[in-house]
Amino acid sequence: MNLYDFSRPALGELLGGWGYSRYHAGLLWEALYRQGDVHALRPELYGRLQAETTMSLPTAVADLSSSDGQTRKFLLRLADGQTIETVLMHFEGRDGTPRATACISTQAGCAMGCVFCATGQMGFTRHLAPGEIVAQVLFANSQLPPNSEPLRNIVLMGMGEPLHNYDHTMTAVDILMDHKGLAIAPKHITLSTVGVVPGIVRLADEARPFRLAVSLHGATDAERQALVPLARRWPLAELMAACRYYVQKRQRRIFFEWTLIEGKNDTPEQAHTLGQLLAGLEAHVNLIPLNPTVGYDGRPTGETAVKTFQSILAGYGLPSTIRQRRGIDIAAGCGQLRAASSTAVIATAPRSSSRHG
Ligand code: SF4
Repeated sequence: MNLYDFSRPALGELLGGWGYSRYHAGLLWEALYRQGDVHALRPELYGRLQAETTMSLPTAVADLSSSDGQTRKFLLRLADGQTIETVLMHFEGRDGTPRATACISTQAGCAMGCVFCATGQMGFTRHLAPGEIVAQVLFANSQLPPNSEPLRNIVLMGMGEPLHNYDHTMTAVDILMDHKGLAIAPKHITLSTVGVVPGIVRLADEARPFRLAVSLHGATDAERQALVPLARRWPLAELMAACRYYVQKRQRRIFFEWTLIEGKNDTPEQAHTLGQLLAGLEAHVNLIPLNPTVGYDGRPTGETAVKTFQSILAGYGLPSTIRQRRGIDIAAGCGQLRAASSTAVIATAPRSSSRHG
């Protein structure tokens, strides 16, 4: 049993079953998430935890820093030897204070197969356990400069489709948000899906409080299916019905991600089709010029065409943001994560400065 797999209520139940009070469960929770002292636990409890559980955290086997020093990508090895990637990005907040965002993975590899995504190109290996998702945040926190604020922004946009690993991802998010632990505010957590319709409906029904991003990339079935194979299973009509249901039930907007690929989905006509598709919906569009990957020969849309695309969306009353490109030189941008478990990566990574994909 990995203790990081347990939510606070579940940890209370485990210890309760062993005959310990909530007080002791609280001490253990603090030891896990607030740098409490595990040695402050009763010796017999400590002994039982030692014998029957682990507090397993991943080890960094590679650590790459972008040339501007603002982005770091970690290759983390899990207990079974599987590797995943986690990205830590530094930003300046509106008030000038430094802020950090961690982009974390929910699966090793991904089964969705988006053609432009390095994670999709590598295929699916396995789901991550809740503790393996949470541990990436603990690890990222440990890498912040001394005296900096703890990490407060989390994006579930690393390797994997979070809604394909729904239960483990939700347990992990509950742990991250727990007010007696890491206490990350729901408004600072964004989950990104490529369009797993039953998962979107479930998020709405369960009133999950974090932000939702839906990767669209195409505004007709044919164009979307050419980039996102999953779209054959859930066509646009079903996806948009789920999005409208979510917005209506949660009373909050959805962020739509659109990777701009030259000549594929970046024409003015396609911008009009997208504008018509989203018209009337509480939505914000994030425009992301394609990041390069070895397995896809598409090119990013040029600056002028991106601006034209954006201004057409504005004509439909759709706010949008052109996403800042971060960490491209270390393949840490959107769609570039591909955990290489080979020793080559480990050997070439700078040792001292030791992401949906
Ligand atoms: S973009 Fe996201 S859903 Fe698509 S293959 Fe990459 S990781 Fe999977």
